[in-house]
Amino acid sequence: MTAPSSPTPDSASDRRDLVILGGGLVGMTLALAAARAGITSHVVERADPADLTAEGVDGRASAISTASWNLFSNIGLGEALAPLGCPIDAIAVTDGMKPGRIDFRPTLEEGSLGRMFANRDIRLALFAAARDEPAIAWHTGVEPVRRDRHAHGVTVTLDNGRVLDGSLLVGAEGRRSPTRDEEGITQVAWDYHHRAIVAGLSHELPHGNTAWEIFYPEGPFALLPLIDDDQGRHRSALVWTVSERDAKGVLALSDATFLAEVARHMAGLFGAIELSAPRMSFPLSYQNATRLTGPRLALVGDAAHGMHPIAGQGLNLGLRDVGALVEVLGDGMRLGLEPGDAQLLARYERWRSLDIFTVMSVMDGIVRLFGVPGKLPSAARRLGMGAVQRMPTLKRFFMNEARGMSGKLPALLQV
Ligand SMILES: Cc1cc2nc3c(=O)[nH]c(=O)nc-3n(C[C@H](O)[C@H](O)[C@H](O)COP(=O)(O)OP(=O)(O)OC[C@H]3O[C@@H](n4cnc5c(N)ncnc54)[C@H](O)[C@@H]3O)c2cc1C
Repeated sequence: MTAPSSPTPDSASDRRDLVILGGGLVGMTLALAAARAGITSHVVERADPADLTAEGVDGRASAISTASWNLFSNIGLGEALAPLGCPIDAIAVTDGMKPGRIDFRPTLEEGSLGRMFANRDIRLALFAAARDEPAIAWHTGVEPVRRDRHAHGVTVTLDNGRVLDGSLLVGAEGRRSPTRDEEGITQVAWDYHHRAIVAGLSHELPHGNTAWEIFYPEGPFALLPLIDDDQGRHRSALVWTVSERDAKGVLALSDATFLAEVARHMAGLFGAIELSAPRMSFPLSYQNATRLTGPRLALVGDAAHGMHPIAGQGLNLGLRDVGALVEVLGDGMRLGLEPGDAQLLARYERWRSLDIFTVMSVMDGIVRLFGVPGKLPSAARRLGMGAVQRMPTLKRFFMNEARGMSGKLPALLQV
């Protein structure tokens, strides 16, 4: 790919193509993907990278779809990340461990359903690559105090007095994006009144690279396979959804009582279990921005769409935003347009809106379908799951969705 513009030294008057606010998983992937396409950026992150990557700060692990893995490989992270990912060879879905489950197990030729990575490992790889990339000017431990967008560009004033210039402002600050709110972009939003309790488990029996999604009326209970630790212990990431009402109690349980509760939900699946990483919790809500763009502004990642982690799709959706935005900007800049051009933003909006709406709606539907308590809904679910289990075409459709390979994929997410 030719470089639409070349980086200039990081000086006070350093105008860059993008000013990305928020250097989390999505913001930093965008900066790196843009850099690989010759698009320069300022990235503003209020946290210190050392804090973001400290052990126990983000104990989550992410299911990275095949398409998202292609993106990481295409921007040069494949070598660093490959040994750290655990392939997901199968997904087992059950209604409370009762009979009638669905097994999604692709053939060898079809390949795995994605890979599990500790978020910390993804961040470490992204940050190491960003440090060596002259097309990225990374401003950490600072926050914008003012954002201005005008006919010829955007200007962001930081709380240390520094002023950053660019052509396009990108809001990547996650669910509470001040950039989105300042532009007056409203959201369709509701609270699930649930919390995801996240913890690391080590266990006696191997997980066989299978991800388990066990639905209980109180909320889904997911076990996601991780690679063995350096002492050969088998590990999985737990994401256990409980009601907001119960979350405080679950978090306050002693380790032993917590483990006993987890073991009860697992019904002996992996033998004896131990805690390998501390518990933490995340509130769960649905937040869908009513538009993704404004004059010289684009939203990416959770700033645009925050969803229930029931099928591990939030980051994957954000990475599709990244691929689409970089492609649209790269195409436009090669034609002589500048990154803040309204036509390019309109193309980005058109490209991403339907995919976002579809994935968000399906995830919300699953949360509601499996959240209905009672024997009758449970029996109906198992009947439905039994039907899916016997329909290979439908199963293949769901597996393609899990891989993130359906719809019009940006080039960066293809092999
Ligand atoms: C329990 C749980 C499990 C999940 N599992 C999966 C999974 O398996 N697969 C998957 O695809 N997704 C998963 N997700 C979703 C995924 O974690 C999110 O979609 C993803 O982290 C969003 O990344 P982001 O960079 O858009 O936002 P964030 O991660 O929220 O990052 C935003 C960044 O912006 C910074 N920031 C905020 N405000 C400012 C400001 N004013 N100025 C400067 N910087 C600012 C923050 O410090 C942060 O670094 C899960 C989510 C949860 C809660």
